[in-house]
Amino acid sequence: MKVVKFGGSSLASGPAVENALKIITAEAERQVVVTSAPGKRFDDDIKVTDLLIKYAHEINHGRNGLEVADRIFQRYVEIGEYFNLPLEEILPLKEILLNLPKEHYPNKNYLQATFKAHGERLNAKLIAKILQSQGVKARYVDPKDAGIIVTGSPNNASVNPESYQLLENFAYDADEKLIFPGFYGYTLAGHIATFSRGGSDITGAILARGFHADLYENFTDVDAIFSANPKVVDQPQPIHTMTYREMRELSYAGFSVFHDEALIPAIQGQIPINVKNTQHPEKRGTMIVPEKGFKPETVITGIASGKHFGALYLHKYLLNKEVGFTLRILQILNKYKLSYEHMPTGIDDLTLIFDRDTLNDELIDQICNEIQNEVSPDHLEWISNYAIIMLVGEGMRDRIGVIRDIATPVAREGISLRMVNQGASEISIMLGTAAKDADRAVAAIYDYFFKQEAQGE
Ligand code: ASP
Repeated sequence: MKVVKFGGSSLASGPAVENALKIITAEAERQVVVTSAPGKRFDDDIKVTDLLIKYAHEINHGRNGLEVADRIFQRYVEIGEYFNLPLEEILPLKEILLNLPKEHYPNKNYLQATFKAHGERLNAKLIAKILQSQGVKARYVDPKDAGIIVTGSPNNASVNPESYQLLENFAYDADEKLIFPGFYGYTLAGHIATFSRGGSDITGAILARGFHADLYENFTDVDAIFSANPKVVDQPQPIHTMTYREMRELSYAGFSVFHDEALIPAIQGQIPINVKNTQHPEKRGTMIVPEKGFKPETVITGIASGKHFGALYLHKYLLNKEVGFTLRILQILNKYKLSYEHMPTGIDDLTLIFDRDTLNDELIDQICNEIQNEVSPDHLEWISNYAIIMLVGEGMRDRIGVIRDIATPVAREGISLRMVNQGASEISIMLGTAAKDADRAVAAIYDYFFKQEAQGE
């Protein structure tokens, strides 16, 4: 059995849904279907999820939100009409939308989560109806009935392990298609809570694990995951096969095709994932597979870069001998509930790298002041535009000369490396550069490795 998940752009319009339905019905094995909310039809379009956030905002601010509710409803009408679904089949979706403000919510965050989840909920209901109208045995399944239980905050929930047990016991016929909405589950108290944005991938992975699927097919709008960002490198190579942990490291560093949290249930269940293009399902796409038995074809599988970092650099003589130095700094971060991304150290130096999006200037000043008072460094510097480049590849393990092959093209470009950090996993190397140099460094390293200049020994 296969779980198939469609992204928002794959379900954004009638013709897009038509492609998705062809894929669903092409194989009897494709039994569990996960829908996203309708996404963008064109560049300036607004995703239904974002319209729902607007709708929730209107209600939370005491307005009626009718205009935006109607705009949301029209997205479903457009899809339903494309399949000649009678309006009375589509109207119940409007009723659900208009009833949302009348429900009880513990607070505004729960209200927002519930509204947001309805992009996928209504789409799953609509798609089940369209399939039925075509004579396909299809059933809408609500996460509540299947047992997707979540904990955590209402807009950033995590799956509760008990869900897997409940899913195992979920009964269905061998010839029916189950249509699940992605992106949300129910808290123990019975309220809707969503995963983080892009979280329908997570639902797909949970279902793949819970139903012991043979494959999790993730349909999106690209032919494959590419070895570098096509905006930075001209026509990068597609990745045909990669391991879970390669994907995990690359998605952390900016590969946004597949949600990083969605890997965890797939890894736990050892379910292979196939990322494919809804418009070209005949193309092989990218397989994400367990490490065992994997034979890398290239040294580097992918290069990613993120420019949204900032770094706090500290210098103090004899830092290595001072007991509790790092602890006191971390206590300050803890006080501000701030997590850091990396902490490379030297004998007299320490750098703390932060996700810039979690900070503001006031917070940076406060932290710098406290660190200055607490540990009296000889030098303390805030580097605002810091970039991290991540090179990932199972092929790097046990290979001599990789650092040389990375440093050579970077040096040729006249780019200075601020940090080099080889992860304990040995399948990734992280570089720190000035944000302005990051793209050039990525392009130079890519050319060096993928155009066969790298020597290896
Ligand atoms: N519709 C949700 C979002 O836009 C979830 C998803 O598409 O996976 O974030």
